[in-house]
Order: sequence, then structure tokens, then C-alpha cells
Amino acid sequence: MTTSIHEKVELLLKEEKKPCNKCEDPAVECVCVTIEAIAELPTRFGDFHIIAFSNNRDKKEHVAIVKGDVFDAENIPVRLHSECLTGDVMGSLRCDCRDQLEAALKKIGEMEQGIVLYLRQEGRGIGLTNKIRAYSLQDQGLDTVEANLALGFRDDERDYAVAANMLHALKIKSIRLMTNNPKKMAQLEQHGVKISERIPHILPSNDHNRFYLETKAAKSGHLIDFHGKPHLDEQSDKPLVAGMAEADR
Ligand SMILES: [Zn+2]
Repeated sequence: MTTSIHEKVELLLKEEKKPCNKCEDPAVECVCVTIEAIAELPTRFGDFHIIAFSNNRDKKEHVAIVKGDVFDAENIPVRLHSECLTGDVMGSLRCDCRDQLEAALKKIGEMEQGIVLYLRQEGRGIGLTNKIRAYSLQDQGLDTVEANLALGFRDDERDYAVAANMLHALKIKSIRLMTNNPKKMAQLEQHGVKISERIPHILPSNDHNRFYLETKAAKSGHLIDFHGKPHLDEQSDKPLVAGMAEADR
């Protein structure tokens, strides 16, 4: 099965890659993002394509999980997800990254079109080992900001220039950003992404997570783990749970 986005990206891949003329100018801080590969990705959340990118900024292998033909299109629902090995893969309860990722894939999987940008900026950009060092400091009683500062990092080291340029590489004209975080919108707009709407990112609740997520939402900006210590708010989106009272949001 070949969909049109597959064909369009394959055509793009066959084009000769020209060196960016801005990159060669040392006076310009150029962020170059290139599409490297596309393949079908059937998942438990629906049928997607996965597109791999390279860039000259952080040299990391970021990917887009794409539903439908988003190429050159307008008003595309987009979710930015920062990689979290402990949450996404291991199901760690120190954060709700996996819930947020699954909710985004499920929602977009049910839509005609949409994109999850899976950004390899582990631990708010400080990397996996440093995130675990920060967890360790938090286990010893430091709060999340103190832990990051103790390791010599800012509270949040993430940068959305590459994410914005991934959307530009897919020729996306405008997006509907799935986020509870207005700062993320402002950052993407700074990098030339047109945002036509914000879609609140609401997590589906179940009997097991509802109270947990509601408690976290009620303590906005100060997330608490089961041992009573604040932890890394890695996705920086205040959790919103389906069915929550408006006043709690
Ligand atoms: Zn996480």
C-alpha cells in the first residue's frame, strides 16, 4: 500500500541534496533539517508513516509519526513529544510521558491527518544519564529545579528550532498544536510556524490513573511523586484528564 505522502517524500528523497547557502555563511545561525527516510508504521494506535530527519543543530535522529497526507497541508493537528526512555518505554511513574504519548497517538490515529514529532530531547534536553542523576538528587531531597541547577543545567534545556524546521521540511502551512502549554506555542511561532489553533491535550482517564492525574493537575507546576517529592515535569504540559471539572483545569 502506497499513499500519496509516501510517494511525495520518496520523490523528495530522489532530488539531489544541495548544500544550504545560509549554512556556509558563518554570520548566520542556520538550522538545516533534512528528510532522510520514510516507511509505513502500523501501530496499535492506527496506521502511520514514520519519517526520519537529520539536522545540523543537535545531530540527533528525530522522527515524525504521520497520519494521512500532511504534505503541503493546512491546520494539521501536531503534538510535540520529548523522548522519555523511562516513561515511554519502561512505564515509569515519575512522570506521565507515556500517558501523554499514547493519548496523542490514539487521538491522531483516529483523525484523518496529524503528526507526532518525537523529539530526542530526553529529560528536558539534559540527556538520559543526567536525567537519572537528577532523579537521584531528587531521591536525596532536592526539588526538580535545584537538581537541574546542581548539575549545571538550566531548568529546561529544550529548543524547538529543530521541531519547527521538521514541520517546514514537510511543507506544513499551519498547525493546530495539541498542548496545554502556551510557551510551546510561542517558541514555535518564533521559528516561523503558523498556529491556527490550540487543541488542549486531554488524557483519557481510567480508574487507575484518574485520581493520580487529577492530583497532579491540582498541584499545577509542582508535580509530586509517590514519595512526596517533586519530580521532573518532562513534557511541561499540565495534565488534563477527560471528565475533570472545568474548575480543576
Ligand atoms: Zn518522562
